[in-house]
Amino acid sequence: MDETCLFCKIIAGEISSDKVYEDETVVAFRDINPQASTHVLVVPRKHIPRIVDATEDDSALLGEVAYRAAQIARKEGVGDSFRMVVNNGADAGQSVFHVHFHILGGRRMGWPPG
Ligand code: AMP
Repeated sequence: MDETCLFCKIIAGEISSDKVYEDETVVAFRDINPQASTHVLVVPRKHIPRIVDATEDDSALLGEVAYRAAQIARKEGVGDSFRMVVNNGADAGQSVFHVHFHILGGRRMGWPPG
């Protein structure tokens, strides 16, 4: 755990969140500022600041997070149409430096993303 990390604090229960799923590896909770009717953040318990910081040893973990994110999208009722987004770095829109997969669904998405 990184003591300065917001998502580590959410994972530890030190900051409240609307959790939709958790297991020994992955935690998922609703985004506090939703950009679609379904907007869930799926995070590994392990603190990895950006996806580019992951090592080869983390590859199975990231696969598990992505798999779980898709299952959560299905459970949320948006399994046939959703977007899975990982922002890497401030210029790409990353504001919390703990790897997270956004699951956005329930509205039509534009392309390319802004
Ligand atoms: P990103 O900008 O890709 O790093 O995404 C970070 C996301 O975390 C944003 O969509 C924020 O709305 C969301 N967020 C920030 N603080 C909280 C919080 N306390 N609980 C849930 N989501 C949060």
